[in-house]
Amino acid sequence: MKNKLRFETLAIQSTAPDGDDTCSVANAIYPSTTFERETDGSYQSGFVYTRDNNPNRQLLEDSLNTLEQGKKALAFASGMAAASAVLQSLSTGDHVLLPDDAYYCMHRSLREVYNHWGLQHSIVDMTDLEAVRSAMQSNTRLLWLESPSNPLLKISDIAALADIAHQHDALCVVDNTWATPVLQSPLALGADAVMYSTTKYFGGHSDSLSGALVLNQNAEDAWLERLTTIQKLNGAVPSPFDCWLILRGLKTMKLRLQQQTRNAKQLAEFLATQPGIQQVHYPDLPSHPQHLLAQQQMPSGSGAMLSIQYGNHPSEAMQLTGRLNLFTAATSLGGVESLIEHRKSVEGALSPTPDNLLRISVGIEHIEDLKADWLQALNA
Ligand SMILES: *Cc1c(COP(=O)(O)O)cnc(C)c1O
Repeated sequence: MKNKLRFETLAIQSTAPDGDDTCSVANAIYPSTTFERETDGSYQSGFVYTRDNNPNRQLLEDSLNTLEQGKKALAFASGMAAASAVLQSLSTGDHVLLPDDAYYCMHRSLREVYNHWGLQHSIVDMTDLEAVRSAMQSNTRLLWLESPSNPLLKISDIAALADIAHQHDALCVVDNTWATPVLQSPLALGADAVMYSTTKYFGGHSDSLSGALVLNQNAEDAWLERLTTIQKLNGAVPSPFDCWLILRGLKTMKLRLQQQTRNAKQLAEFLATQPGIQQVHYPDLPSHPQHLLAQQQMPSGSGAMLSIQYGNHPSEAMQLTGRLNLFTAATSLGGVESLIEHRKSVEGALSPTPDNLLRISVGIEHIEDLKADWLQALNA
């Protein structure tokens, strides 16, 4: 019955309490780290210890899995903890192929952490399928994708790339944080799993750090078992309160994203007409190099993130952020409030991000107010 319902309905139904003695309509929070055992050794509720599982986490994982129509969802203490679990499910000597434009901590993690554990990696432009084919090695076990990418909003062809991965017996995992299941379904396109920083659009209010993996229904049992073991033994699990916040966020995620995506598209179109701005990176603009692929892969819109290039010196871009009143200069994204960030100075000297790039996370404010704010900041 539940699977025949549409996303909006499932987002409400799958996050509701499943009927305890109190008859609450809203979810309770279960901070208990431990659960009482029966004299026969069993546990009446099935819960034993919160690192292994907890009622709030169980509900969150079930809800994420229902919304994504996967095999199983696993919740983590952050997006990076979820991504790390995927890397830790590989073996020493395995090779990972990563996009050139991707969340910078993925590059750092492979370079600074997993390198020491014998995991090899190389970086490729995922928009160039030929380049990807030639970068695949006999020991490539994971093709890591991020589309739209951070911070240049590159779009990669998930179905074609999943095919390439599978031809080489490699897994294809997609960081779907910027698109969310509202705008893009990598599992339906053949990916083996999606990874989320639920810190962003799922939470939606910039107040919970957490992450998740959802596995494709076809994913191998052995891989799921391995990931579950890593989740429970490494212990990078979300707190009951964080699970509760993400469950609350899920209920309004689609509404928020629709408004944010509408705002982002209008803002991108507006900024593209402003003389001081050299470039606007937004997949739903016809000038975007993968515009057609974006429309096909994300038919209901390309999301609420965009980036622009402004000025000739990084300080000009930085100063512009100070003249905006409705965009808070801060890192992160996906909340109801608009944010702006000078990306290169956050990513560090090794980052290939252009010096004059500003990344914008568009919120749910009124678009005319947002445009007016840009107009005054650009002309001040
Ligand atoms: C924020 C982010 C991450 C990392 O998530 P955390 O919750 O901060 O660990 C990974 N990928 C993308 C695309 C992100 O925006």
